[in-house]
Parts: sequence; structure tokens; C-alpha cells
Amino acid sequence: MMKAVRMVGVGKPLELHEVPIPEIGAGDILVRVRAAGICHSDVHYRAGKSRVDPLPLTLGHEVAGIVEKIGTDVTQVKIGDRVCLHYNICCAACDACRSGDDQFCPKCLMIGHYTDGGYAQYIAVPARNAIPLPAEIPFEQGATLMCASATSYHALRKGRLKAGERFPHGAVAIHARKVDAVAEIRKRAPGGVDVALELIGLPLTIQQSLRSLGNMGRAVVAGITDLPVAIDTYRELLGNERELIGSNDHTLGELPEVVDFARRGLLDTSHVVSRTVPLDAGAINAVLDALENFSNSTVRTVIVP
Ligand SMILES: [Zn+2]
Ligand SMILES: [Zn+2]
Repeated sequence: MMKAVRMVGVGKPLELHEVPIPEIGAGDILVRVRAAGICHSDVHYRAGKSRVDPLPLTLGHEVAGIVEKIGTDVTQVKIGDRVCLHYNICCAACDACRSGDDQFCPKCLMIGHYTDGGYAQYIAVPARNAIPLPAEIPFEQGATLMCASATSYHALRKGRLKAGERFPHGAVAIHARKVDAVAEIRKRAPGGVDVALELIGLPLTIQQSLRSLGNMGRAVVAGITDLPVAIDTYRELLGNERELIGSNDHTLGELPEVVDFARRGLLDTSHVVSRTVPLDAGAINAVLDALENFSNSTVRTVIVP
């Protein structure tokens, strides 16, 4: 048996349960979870804004750990390997999977959403979902690469940012409650930016991402909201030939690239994980509550079982 923190019903706090350690098939691996990120999507799941099925279900889709057991057909990983996991379990055979756009696989099952996830001591996944995690990258950071970083990377690719385009040097933090975020961005990038990523999921920030663009700029929306977003189509979209682009998830093929960026230091993940909590339902619910109220000043909390 193992411990797992599970969603038992919509709007209810997650609960710690003792469940059987998952069985693995010939092409699967069993991973001992060393880190599982707590993501804003988990807040939507718990609140019922995005349906979790079946229930009860173990949440957690940002997972890194050590291969504990492998199926008889598995050759690409071995017991003891450090891995992080692609959260979409796809068929590998349909047109979408074969063209590398597995985010559109009709049979795709996301871990921690439609099949048991990583808020547990162990998780079973197909071996092809395992991405090698180099020793230089701690498990906590490896876990967050699988959602937060990979989704941002996919969004950046969707925005088609290319050499020579305007991007303020490095990252500049702007306190959007204290200043007008759009005016501040346009002050630093006169004429507007070429690419804006919206990773929050609020109507206001989606509008701001569009308004911060220059002519022919691309705003990529990866944040989820079920609220309508008002756009002044002439002034904000077609008059300047801007593009509003949807970005969904990321692909299996992008993950080794993201891990390699982190290994080479091109992607600095050293400040991403601000806090760790044990595999404890009370502690995890408290983190989800804070994320729900946007009162969490920490960047990312990771469960370390
Ligand atoms: Zn996530
Ligand atoms: Zn498929």
C-alpha cells in the first residue's frame, strides 16, 4: 500500500488515503515520486471548474522521481534512473501523436486529471512518458519543468519569437497593482512588444497582453478562465494586425529541450521552487486555498513525499 492525497468530490478538501501501489503493464514504469508540483490547475480541478474524472482521483501532474520498477518490454529507462514525467499519456499511434502534436491526441489522458497523478508515493506511467532528469537538476525543479516551464516554452514557440524582435533585456518585474502594466511595458518597449505571453488566466491580463503589443505583435494565451474577455476589435486587434493565439499544453518532444535548457543554465529554475510541503492533505489544501485567493506570494510549492 502507499499514501496518496486524493480529490474525493468537487469543492471538497483533498484527503489522504492508503491505496494499493499501482500495477504496471509491459510498457510501463513505476516511479517513486520525489517531487510533485502544486499547480494553479489543481485549484480549478478541486473547485470543479475543470472536471476531474473518475473520482476519487490522485491529483498532481508535475512529477519527478526515481524509476522503481519497469515492465518487461521497457528498454529506454532502467531501475534507479532519475526521471521527470510528461503528464499527457497519449496513444502514440494517431495522426496527432505521429506528427508530434500529441496535445491533440483524442485518447490523451492527463495524469492527475483523468488518471492518478503524483500527489502520492508512487505513480505508474508508460515508459515513453519518462524524460531523463540530469543529476544537476534537483527533483523539485525537474517537476516544475514538466508543466510551468514547458507550457511557457510551448507558448513562446506559438508566439513565433524570432531573432531581432523586441524583448526587454532579461525579465523585468512590474507590480501591476501599483502601476499601469501596459503603460509600463510600452515605456520600456516603445511601440509595443512583439510577443506577449498571458499565463495567468484573467480577462484583464488577457486584455493587457493584447494592448502591450506593437503592430503585428502576437499575444499568446495559456492562462485559463471561463469568464468572457472584451476586446475592442479595431483598436486592439485588426487595426494593428495583432494576433491572439491560443496555446494548449506542450508536447512530449518539447520536454527534453526544456530539461536541456535547464541543465545548460539557459533556463534558470533556481528560484522557481519557493517552498516545499510534505505529502499531507492539510498542507496541500492550504497551498491550494492560497492559490485560489491569489494570496500566495510564493512562486511554486512542491510536495516532497
Ligand atoms: Zn500544471
Ligand atoms: Zn494519439
